[in-house]
Amino acid sequence: MKHIYFIMILFAYFQTDPYRTERLNMVKSQIENRGIKNPLVLEAMRKVPRHLFVPEYQKSNAYEDRPLSIGDGQTISQPYIVAHMTAIINPLKGMKVLEIGTGSGYQAAVLAEIVDQVFTIEIVENLGKRAKADLEKSGYKNVFVKIGDGYQGWPSEAPFDAILVTAAAENIPQPLIDQLKEGGRMVIPVGKQGEVQDLILIEKIKGKIRTTNLGAVRFVPFTRN
Ligand code: SAH
Repeated sequence: MKHIYFIMILFAYFQTDPYRTERLNMVKSQIENRGIKNPLVLEAMRKVPRHLFVPEYQKSNAYEDRPLSIGDGQTISQPYIVAHMTAIINPLKGMKVLEIGTGSGYQAAVLAEIVDQVFTIEIVENLGKRAKADLEKSGYKNVFVKIGDGYQGWPSEAPFDAILVTAAAENIPQPLIDQLKEGGRMVIPVGKQGEVQDLILIEKIKGKIRTTNLGAVRFVPFTRN
């Protein structure tokens, strides 16, 4: 009998997520300590296994305070940036959110912990396919990945409570503004590629657009087919 308990404890030990401590430390030191207070965002970041959204050779770097290469010249954003952008759109249960620039699928997973449905578009086929597989492996059933140019948004699923663009555009795509619900919030890095961009918040209030500059960021470029 004793042996069985021992084996069960051993099994439970190896089943636990080996990166859990690193992840909790990441949320405390990189996110909470930099002023992000939204409890839903913090809880989501404590849950999503970021190491499962990076290439195998990057696993041990997954919780570092920086973006990481994910292949095809693209990156998974720094954890703080993901938390910051998520907090800006003020996500809540019941919402339907659109993301442009799936990349690794990590940002979509963080959103999926909070809102009801996440629609995400990736222009690089390889990345879109891998993100879809990684999201499925991690059990996210409320994320829908499409491969294509996000400039046109996802008209058949519009309108959205919030839109999050994770690639830097020189201009704000009008179709995305059109697909934002009344009272909705959109966040997008705007500026030239290779330069520092401005993170812009767009709010639709009584049909009018209000824009707020939230400061400098650096993103990979928004590309077109
Ligand atoms: N949100 C991602 C970060 C992705 S980096 C994550 O959590 O990992 C930005 C991504 O936007 C890249 O994968 C890039 O290929 C993609 N992208 C660039 N232009 C795009 C466009 N027009 N439509 C859709 N995706 C685009």
